Amino acid sequence: MTSGIRFDSVTVAYDGTVVLAGLDLTVESGEVMALLGPSGSGKTTALRAVAGFVRPVSGRVFLGDRDVTDLPPHRRGIGMVVQQYALFPHLRVEDNVAFGLRARKAPKVPRAEIRARVTEALEMTGMAAYARRYPRELSGGQQQRVAIARALAIRPGVLLLDEPLSALDAQLRSGMLAELARLHRELPDVSILYVTHDQIEALTLADRIAVMDQARLQACGTPRELYRAPVNEFTASFVGNANLLPVTVAEKGVTFAGTGLAVDTADAAPGARATLCVRPHLVGLGDGPNAVTGTVTEIQWRGATHRLHVDVDGHRLLADLRELKSPPALGDHVTLHFAPEDAVLLAAGVGHD
Ligand code: ADP
Repeated sequence: MTSGIRFDSVTVAYDGTVVLAGLDLTVESGEVMALLGPSGSGKTTALRAVAGFVRPVSGRVFLGDRDVTDLPPHRRGIGMVVQQYALFPHLRVEDNVAFGLRARKAPKVPRAEIRARVTEALEMTGMAAYARRYPRELSGGQQQRVAIARALAIRPGVLLLDEPLSALDAQLRSGMLAELARLHRELPDVSILYVTHDQIEALTLADRIAVMDQARLQACGTPRELYRAPVNEFTASFVGNANLLPVTVAEKGVTFAGTGLAVDTADAAPGARATLCVRPHLVGLGDGPNAVTGTVTEIQWRGATHRLHVDVDGHRLLADLRELKSPPALGDHVTLHFAPEDAVLLAAGVGHD
């Protein structure tokens, strides 16, 4: 079975406009890779290049060791699930799931095996009791399960999921996310490429996340790496919330709004302008290391936390504070602080302009 996906400098253009620019990315065998980015950033195009529905103008696509760039979609052995389920309305659930297997010409899949695989795929997705129904007799969530069963029935080495949950309501989505995580555990050899614009889906499900913007890969890493040590502003703001403070590198640390802050500047040159990324939940109220003062402009109660918006010399700083017994009032003058190790210095403009 082929497994693993490799994009080797894959460029795709429509009518001369490049919508995927030189993508280099490897999805390991058994790995879930999320392609995360805003609408129009090229995620679906990348997925379609793997499926064989678009042809790169340059670069190659590999499944395992096999260069599939010139193969038609049906010869790639890929399972694919898209947002709109795309079930055949006139076919019962079991026949929808059997479709890919019946369509196989050489070698033909024996009937008994088709039956066994359909049963297996429906059981994996919790849909065995619905085999005789038509798609119109199912809810949206159930239809999506059938679409997943259909993709799994061919026992693909690679599963492509394109915003599979976006047509479902919030509660169903969270249930299906857990289901997908379970399916992945049951299929440890299948590589999954998962397109989403939803960071929660990516953070929950993916082993690694490839962050896309403006046709380019901006960053790739584990959710934890991207969250704790983003390499550029786009990644910092797209994966989790971020305070992005304009700073100037000093001999030691940086200067922000006239205040010296102790942070690791690595090899940044003194005088250089950069951006300091501090996560709102790592900002504390009151005095401490790296203290700055400002005025409270907004307070949002969010159940477990209060989110404070604080104006520091014309810059907005967000602080997500837990267990706040007596929150400050609008207009109050407050001091905020953060630990030096909780800030990440980003070079200005790197990777995104
Ligand atoms: P995403 O999945 O990140 O939302 P897409 O890969 O679907 O982004 O699209 C990337 C860009 O390519 C968008 O600007 C989109 O309008 C354009 N595009 C997608 N498909 C076509 C097509 N068939 N013809 C022309 N342009 C397209």
